[in-house]
Amino acid sequence: MTATRPRPAWSDDDVEAFRELARTFLEKECAPNEDRWGEQQHVDREIWNKAGKLGLLCPSIPAEYGGGGGTFALEAALAEEQTRALSPSLGTAVHSTIVAHYINSYGTEEQKRRWLPGMASGEIVGAVAMTEPGTGSDLQSVKTKAIKAGGEYVIDGSKTFISNGLHANLVITVAKTDPENAAKGISLIVVETDGLDGFSRGRVLKKIGQHGQDTAELFYDGVRVPTDNLIGGEEGQGFIQLMQQLPQERLILAVAAVAAIEETLAQTLAYTKDRQAFGKPVFNFQNTKFKLAEVATTARIARVFVDDCISKHLAGGLDVQTASMAKWWTTQMQCDVADECLQFFGGYGYMAEYPISRLYTDARIQKIYGGTNEIMKEIISRFL
Ligand SMILES: Cc1cc2nc3c(=O)[nH]c(=O)nc-3n(C[C@H](O)[C@H](O)[C@H](O)COP(=O)(O)OP(=O)(O)OC[C@H]3O[C@@H](n4cnc5c(N)ncnc54)[C@H](O)[C@@H]3O)c2cc1C
Repeated sequence: MTATRPRPAWSDDDVEAFRELARTFLEKECAPNEDRWGEQQHVDREIWNKAGKLGLLCPSIPAEYGGGGGTFALEAALAEEQTRALSPSLGTAVHSTIVAHYINSYGTEEQKRRWLPGMASGEIVGAVAMTEPGTGSDLQSVKTKAIKAGGEYVIDGSKTFISNGLHANLVITVAKTDPENAAKGISLIVVETDGLDGFSRGRVLKKIGQHGQDTAELFYDGVRVPTDNLIGGEEGQGFIQLMQQLPQERLILAVAAVAAIEETLAQTLAYTKDRQAFGKPVFNFQNTKFKLAEVATTARIARVFVDDCISKHLAGGLDVQTASMAKWWTTQMQCDVADECLQFFGGYGYMAEYPISRLYTDARIQKIYGGTNEIMKEIISRFL
């Protein structure tokens, strides 16, 4: 519903052509299915292959590994369009922006050739499993173990809240290869789940929002994978690898947050200018105008900040502190704006059929995943 905004400084003709492709795909293939996907709690598996066929998966992975050969700008454009289409269920941010980049950044040549083309085509769906029932924010305390036995790792443990957890057939599993050590004992191991003994999935978890995304528990009971599946081939590098990639993960959440703020404003302006109360549009009450003036200001500031972060990231200069600032602030604003705007819809705002209710419920998780906003402030404070 958002009016087309001026082309951002970080975009170009290629990015805008990709955006157009993504928009058409989302409008035709995804948005009409969102209600059904929400009920079944996952997208249809074949939508991954359709997205892959169009080149919408792994757009910033080099072409030699099957990717689109572009930059993060493509990932950002796709995330914006998913938000605008109110179609967040296809977990491309986890698959393309996060998982594929662990492999691309740290994988050996053999690992990149083995996994990235399948991820780009949609034949392979990727997930990253950090969180466990007993530990989330305190990542160094993960209990899942991967112990070397001959040419294999034997993995035992369990993970929870894993996005793409139902469909994933490649799970980057955060495990302790040296359980005696904290951060230095952590490694990232690729678990190819198809027909794998000892690997199982729990139920798809029922959430208060983002109903169409498959978020699941994963269990590892004596799972054996070849030692070749250790990302980068050197044990104990996992924590550093995670920390290095997290700014990009946090930025993509901020990108979605700003798009959601803009969409929420657009939906609310349209509704309040149409809905009448006491003989005039709801928009005409001073309270409405002043609140929406505040929201429009927040949207503008968030947009300028995040556009700047994207430009910095494209130039290789987005620091950890700034990425954390972008994540916590934009997601906090997204939740605040969704709450204030829903109010202007009165009772209709509480009805699931009104998009504003989805903007409200889908927003809440943004302050929690990708590192909670408290952890973001903890990180920022380390640099003060
Ligand atoms: C829908 C959804 C999708 C997700 N997808 C994934 C995924 O794909 N992969 C994955 O690995 N994980 C995923 N997660 C997990 C998510 O990243 C964690 O829930 C999050 O990191 C918080 O961990 P926790 O839930 O264990 O909370 P806890 O770590 O137990 O935190 C509880 C509270 O304590 C606060 N707290 C903790 N430590 C501190 C501190 N040092 N200072 C101040 N406050 C603190 C937290 O901010 C929070 O408010 C997902 C979660 C959800 C709900």
